Amino acid sequence: MNRKGFTLIELLIVIAILGILVSLILPRFADVREDANEKVCVANLRGLVSAMNIYEVKENTVSTWDWGTDAPNGVADLETWGYLADVPSCPQGGTYTIDTNATSGNPEAVCSIGGTHVWP
Ligand SMILES: [Zn+2]
Repeated sequence: MNRKGFTLIELLIVIAILGILVSLILPRFADVREDANEKVCVANLRGLVSAMNIYEVKENTVSTWDWGTDAPNGVADLETWGYLADVPSCPQGGTYTIDTNATSGNPEAVCSIGGTHVWP
C-alpha cells in the first residue's frame, strides 16, 4: 500500500505546533504595537513643542518666556494660527494640552495618558 498524502494524526500534530508558535508570537506583537504607539505620541509631543517654539520666535516672546494674553489656550490655537498643519492625535486616545505654567518655567505639551506618553 503506497498512498500519497498526510494522515489525520500528522495534520493534527502540524496544526498543534503552529498553534503553539502563534501563541508565542502574538503577545510580542502586542508589545511592539504598544511601544510604537508610545513613540508616535512622543513624536507628536515633540511636534507640538516645535510649533510652540516657532510661535515664540515669531511673536518674540523667547527672551521673556512670557506668553502673555495671546498664549495659545490649546493645541487647536496652534493650528488656527498656522503653526501646525493639523492637530495630532494620540494613537492610544489621549488628548494633548499645552501647559504654559509648567514647573520647568517653559511651556510644555502634555498627553493626558501620561506615563510613557511624556517628552522629554
Ligand atoms: Zn499619548
